[in-house]
Amino acid sequence: MSPPATARLYYDDATLLDFHATVTGLRDGGRIVLLDRTAFYPTSGGQPFDRGELHGIPVVDVEDEEAVIAHHLASPLERPVGSAVHGRVDAARRMDHMQQHTGQHLLSAWLADRYGWPTVSVHFGDESATVDVTADVAAEDLPEQLARIEHEVNEAVVANHPITISYEDAATVSGLRKASDRDGMLRIITIEGIDRSACGGTHVSRTGAIGAILLRRAERTRGQLRLEFLCGQRAVTRARLDADLLARTARPLSASPADLPVLIEQQQQRVMTLERDRRQLLETIAGYRATELWAATRVTGSGVRHVEQVVDGAVRDHETLAQALTARGPCTVLLTTASGGLLLAASTDSGVDAGKQLKAILSAHGGRGGGSPRMAQGTLPPEHLESACRALRDSLQQPSP
Ligand SMILES: [Zn+2]
Repeated sequence: MSPPATARLYYDDATLLDFHATVTGLRDGGRIVLLDRTAFYPTSGGQPFDRGELHGIPVVDVEDEEAVIAHHLASPLERPVGSAVHGRVDAARRMDHMQQHTGQHLLSAWLADRYGWPTVSVHFGDESATVDVTADVAAEDLPEQLARIEHEVNEAVVANHPITISYEDAATVSGLRKASDRDGMLRIITIEGIDRSACGGTHVSRTGAIGAILLRRAERTRGQLRLEFLCGQRAVTRARLDADLLARTARPLSASPADLPVLIEQQQQRVMTLERDRRQLLETIAGYRATELWAATRVTGSGVRHVEQVVDGAVRDHETLAQALTARGPCTVLLTTASGGLLLAASTDSGVDAGKQLKAILSAHGGRGGGSPRMAQGTLPPEHLESACRALRDSLQQPSP
């Protein structure tokens, strides 16, 4: 015989958080408990489940099975079917969910009626919630629009409109934001003067209890506009974190947060100028070093010089030196780093394909890399560097320096 349906106490009183009930069913050795009545809200309609305690045992999940509500407990309830139990819903978590959920009703109504932006979908997350709306608005107008919407919905919060629950027949109900696909009695949530929606969730009883509504972010996703919003204490907590983050960002710059946008732009300009100057200096230095190295290298019988040099840092930072050398005349250039980096460059008149030569040596010595006929780079285990260089010299048919 299936257990009797669970009466949902939260339907008519969202403030009732302490209740007594009778156990009507037990599953999984008492870890899942069914009751004749409950104040625990199960995950449904996007609103997450309530936590709390049942007979002193933590409730870790609550599932809606249509007729009954299944309470999942952290440990088995060691009481038989028919016993009386006491339930206590975590008030802070419930209030938080009611604020996000009711805030969404208000926000969606406002966006649809005042801006013509209907809500397509809603998601409630652990830290923030989002609504996806269809909105025809230019990207450059969006920040101003959002600031205005945020201001207006917060005014509607402060106006403290009553929020009521009524039961109306699906066949005769009118004025709903979205037609319900259910038959029979509908549970209607009305924000006076603002919205009428069929909904099974828990809501605060006046808009003032939603608390502040923060429209934090907007992004375009699959043709919709996704708005991140936070209500009540969440909005305050998030604003606090954002303010701390700004203060921390401003501190090393000895600036006030308000000066950050200008200051960061100035610093970016400065970094770009410095980077350009640095490149010019590196080119000048590379020219001098190339002259020195060129003079210190013997010309071989074939008329092609082979220049070798151990360099600091990464080999890619020394491309300019290799280019300065190969621009001087027929030569090959091998630059190495102690950590196993190699760069091989070849002048156009050297008769050497740097990419092919280096790749062959690297693959024979457990390394990887490649490049063009004029310049190639790679890395190999440092312990193979010496034998790889030797092999490379042989393949270039150059004597060791
Ligand atoms: Zn609702």
